Amino acid sequence: MRTTQLLMPTLREEPSDTEVISHKLLVRAGMIRKVAGGIYTYLPLAFRVLQKITQIVREEMDKAGGQEVGLPIVQPRELWDQSGRWQLYGDEMFRLKDRHQRDFCLGPTHEEVITAIVNADVHSYRDLPLLLYQIQDKFRDEIRPRFGLMRAREFIMKDLYSFDVDEDGLDISYRKMYFAYSAIFERLGLDFRVVEADSGAIGGNVSHEFIVLARSGESLVVYCDQCDYAANVEKAEAVFEPVETVTECPPLETVYTPGRKSVAEVTEFLGVDPARIIKTLIYMVDDVPHAILIRGDRELNEVKLKNYLQATEMFMAPEDMVKEITGASIGSVGPVGLKIKILADLEIQGMSDAFCGANRDDYHLAHVLPGRDFVPDAYADLRNVEAGDSCPRCRGELLATRGIEVGHIFKLGTKYSQAMDAGFLDEDGVKRHFVMGCYGIGISRVMAAAIEQKHDDDGIIWPMAIAPYQVIIVPVNVGDEQQVECAERLYRELQEAGVEVLYDDREERAGVKFKDADLIGIPLRITIGPKSLKQNKVEIKKRWEAESELVDQDKIVDVVLSLIGKA
Ligand code: ATP
Ligand code: MG
Repeated sequence: MRTTQLLMPTLREEPSDTEVISHKLLVRAGMIRKVAGGIYTYLPLAFRVLQKITQIVREEMDKAGGQEVGLPIVQPRELWDQSGRWQLYGDEMFRLKDRHQRDFCLGPTHEEVITAIVNADVHSYRDLPLLLYQIQDKFRDEIRPRFGLMRAREFIMKDLYSFDVDEDGLDISYRKMYFAYSAIFERLGLDFRVVEADSGAIGGNVSHEFIVLARSGESLVVYCDQCDYAANVEKAEAVFEPVETVTECPPLETVYTPGRKSVAEVTEFLGVDPARIIKTLIYMVDDVPHAILIRGDRELNEVKLKNYLQATEMFMAPEDMVKEITGASIGSVGPVGLKIKILADLEIQGMSDAFCGANRDDYHLAHVLPGRDFVPDAYADLRNVEAGDSCPRCRGELLATRGIEVGHIFKLGTKYSQAMDAGFLDEDGVKRHFVMGCYGIGISRVMAAAIEQKHDDDGIIWPMAIAPYQVIIVPVNVGDEQQVECAERLYRELQEAGVEVLYDDREERAGVKFKDADLIGIPLRITIGPKSLKQNKVEIKKRWEAESELVDQDKIVDVVLSLIGKA
């Protein structure tokens, strides 16, 4: 492709309203344009990258036994009523009506449609297992569409659904997908980790996320330095080593803490360690007030809390509600004498001679002993794991890192097949429900994640496997016949050798062309200049290295082929 013919509207200036680097660079590199909040057009360079990612995903899905199908984007309400999700999905679902006022939605996901189809056409255990997938736009009216393609409202997803006769079958399908996903991210050339994840509202109990490591990532993951344990912080288990129960503790004492509310203020005022504070948070859980206790130096994990209580709706009580329930303001609340449900993190068991709010503004209690001064209704693992904690598997040390969730695999079990009464006849002619799994990859998010992981101050550094073009040819001066002749020849030879080449034939200054080549991230740049031409050489530069080298003109095709792994 010649740049004079390519729609590649690169920008010099930083675009406004972009918060993350991938968004900035995608806009500056002339790859995407915003049409509405969270809705984008993919221009030619982006489209090529997406096609490459799609192709790798497709090949690995097919290799694992997947069959590609095309499911409708517009879906009737009736299907979603069957699973109960028409209500449950809430505002994230794009809803519409047809001319007869019948309800439809734009598919945010496809469990309902696929389950109905398989139920209608698959009747026997002999037809299972079945792995069906599609690669298509998904629609989710995210509360906060942001970070460009990372959290969009229309985005591309590959979703595969597995149908098996039983749990053992599901185990096999799940494992196939696990390995196929690992192969995909390996081939994409990205640093990634597979982590145990919370399966939350989708159901089932086993789920893994594939995380592309990047400092800017929204996901926090921990992994062990000794074994292969890795988990999303939402899910990571905290280890609590039971200590001997302390019974000796001075009697409770009320201390004056004027205006001190936060853990930091109270500990500074009293001169004590935050680990000696019992932090009390009031939550409304399905309309019932709960006091949640957690050590002062820890963070509550709301996902663990919600799962433990099997809550549908849960929120932290606002000031006026806290006052009504406890008689005190937020920051002066404590478990002693509190007449509501009390749920304590495991670590609270190990505390003694602690401090907590006195349920009276400006006062705290000292010498608090859990078990003596208050008895929680239950102890549970409720805190966020932190770097430095012990590994729940091997007691090694946990390390933390940030990343972007690009893939998510779930064991669904019979959640949808039961709700929709979808099943098959087993060997004995008995009807049974399909045992299902679902497996997603955010194709357009992968493109953004790759940029978050691989860029520098000058622009994108595409991994070879997904670069829009593998090589860019830059003649320093298109007014120079010799340079143009060499460029045209290399352009032809490289294309004939099967290389994807961009030829910058614009009448621009060399500096401008170099800047664009770096910005759009083409892995290899061949520069044709007067000095090297005299020696029958051209210059080749790898985007990820600072130095360039001179190569004989007649060797350049071989050098390029070996650098892109084709030789
Ligand atoms: P998140 O926690 O980021 O909202 P999710 O759990 O809703 O993700 P899934 O329903 O598991 O995501 O979707 C599968 C994949 O689709 C995700 O792993 C992610 O790569 C991608 N994805 C989900 N939501 C978006 C979005 N709004 N924009 C772009 N990609 C998305
Ligand atoms: Mg989501």
